[in-house]
Amino acid sequence: MIKITLPDGSVKEFASGVTPMEVAKSISEGFARNVISASFNGTTVETTTPLTTDGSLILYTWNDEDGKKAFWHSTSHVMAQVLEQMYPGIKLTLGPAIANGFYYDVDFEEHKITEADFKKIEDRVLEISRGKHEFKLRPVSKADALELYKDNVYKTEMITNLEDGTITFCDHDTFTDLCRGGHIPNTGIIKAMKIMSVAGAYWRGDEKNKQLTRVYGTSFPKQKDLTEYLALLEEAKRRDHRKLGKELELFAFSQKVGQGLPLWLPKGAALRERLEQFLKKAQKKAGYEQVVTPHIGHKELYVTSGHYAKYGADSFQPISTPHEGEEFLLKPMNCPHHCEIYNVRPWSYKDLPKRYAEFGTVYRYEQSGELHGLTRVRGFTQDDAHIFCTPDQLDEEFKKVIDLVLYVFGSLGFENFTAQISLRDKENREKYIGSDENWQKAENAIISAAADKGLNTVIEYGEAAFYGPKLDFMVKDALGRQWQLGTIQVDYNLPERFDLTYKGSDNELHRPVMIHRAPFGSMERFIAILLEHTAGNFPLWLMPEQAIILSLSEKDEIYATKVLDLLENHEIRALIDNRNETIGKKIRDAEMQKVPFMLIVGEEEEKNGTISIRRHGQEGKGNITITIEEFAAIVDEEIKKTLKVFTV
Ligand SMILES: [Zn+2]
Ligand SMILES: [Zn+2]
Repeated sequence: MIKITLPDGSVKEFASGVTPMEVAKSISEGFARNVISASFNGTTVETTTPLTTDGSLILYTWNDEDGKKAFWHSTSHVMAQVLEQMYPGIKLTLGPAIANGFYYDVDFEEHKITEADFKKIEDRVLEISRGKHEFKLRPVSKADALELYKDNVYKTEMITNLEDGTITFCDHDTFTDLCRGGHIPNTGIIKAMKIMSVAGAYWRGDEKNKQLTRVYGTSFPKQKDLTEYLALLEEAKRRDHRKLGKELELFAFSQKVGQGLPLWLPKGAALRERLEQFLKKAQKKAGYEQVVTPHIGHKELYVTSGHYAKYGADSFQPISTPHEGEEFLLKPMNCPHHCEIYNVRPWSYKDLPKRYAEFGTVYRYEQSGELHGLTRVRGFTQDDAHIFCTPDQLDEEFKKVIDLVLYVFGSLGFENFTAQISLRDKENREKYIGSDENWQKAENAIISAAADKGLNTVIEYGEAAFYGPKLDFMVKDALGRQWQLGTIQVDYNLPERFDLTYKGSDNELHRPVMIHRAPFGSMERFIAILLEHTAGNFPLWLMPEQAIILSLSEKDEIYATKVLDLLENHEIRALIDNRNETIGKKIRDAEMQKVPFMLIVGEEEEKNGTISIRRHGQEGKGNITITIEEFAAIVDEEIKKTLKVFTV
């Protein structure tokens, strides 16, 4: 008999040779019907693999990431089978699962796959799938494997690198592929499949090698799931921040200025300014002091901080002065500068914590292929701050930073998030800098602060940086995509490297603890995420223009100007569309610009001292006619709903 431990901690005994699927059936037939893959002692196994030792078994369904991976990878086998049937003589290489699907890299030789073929391939994949063919893994000798693939240089290369006795083939229907496993029980559960695209890909990712064709696909256990997924992709395309940034005239890129260096247009700059003011105001209340540091720093500064050793060779190279031979680096991080600000004078424990904040622009080299809109750039501004405190103040400081982050999320409409706490590896503690006592203190501080604030937390052991534990906020956007926003990082390393001290109550010098934190992360990335999350419909308090006055005809210009003045008195940001266009055209353009309120003014409104209001995106709902005072009250109320007052 062997002992199988299940994820809930329960231990069950089975005869040696029991398969994961049999274990699933012993739990319940209904559950077993949903099980599509498994892992045993941390290694992926087939649901039919006989288990012969004690161990922990995890059974996966479609709802688990690992279940999806097995599902998608298995579909890549069926697709490869179809490709081989349709294009005889092609050479198959690798077909792994990836996020949201799978791909197969194929050397199509003289054949060419085009979009016109996709439908035929998809139909054939589903036709084969309906045959409910089992995926069966079998061991083969190296010699046999090489024999089968003697005409395929890629598989031959892969097999050559494998050890004899570890090689397996996977059979289903009439098809065989070299594979080490991780499959669903049979093809029958593949109910929907789509080829997403084809692209060039070098064998082994090396451009010296032959270029292969990468066929991307995805598949689902229900047609409905595929339909929903495709709709989500469409919506993501519609919300792409690069597209919205252009349409809303927020930012641009210029090849002349340089790739990865965003240019902020007036509306985008105003948006950034508003976000900065919003955070500055809250930070002031929370006891932060603003500092300003230069965009470059002496190379030695980064040698001291350790950044040069780590990134120097792979980043922008030093700038030299023409006569003195000094070397400067574009600032990749603000922290070293802030350490030197701390070092300007001696501190006593009574002065701490010191909280230095800066919207600091930093420059980091990214390969041109890695650049993406505002999310991967070469120059960006962090909403950075560094807190220098005593170890005993960590707990309190952590809670305060969490409060600030939650205030930011709440005011910007991010409601769905979790907190990931990264702690030391339990076994391997030598690789971390700082005393065990301090680490214990910091880890407890993070855990208790997160619990105190009622955060939904996940603890990851071994994920801490060598210099300190951290807390990351993982935010889900409106499309269910996960983003990392708002990191709080404890650091024992930089205070050491910069020899930071304070005088304790014992009159001795001690090391302060440093906390790095950035609720937005960077202005660029944050605005990109916010654009995609809100589809450009920012919270009203942040909107570049909250209202647009649309005059019915040229005669209404004077009244329109009067309305604008009155709105300005109420601190409502508005503008006038006085163009000689029809009201229909003006409304359509305002809708495109996503202005929240359209205020239509004509003779009737002028006579009664009113405005006729239409809300963005509420076509056909009819306008309401009210006074400016009433409108100001509506705006005020809506702003108060999202933008709360930050209190400490
Ligand atoms: Zn496989
Ligand atoms: Zn920092």
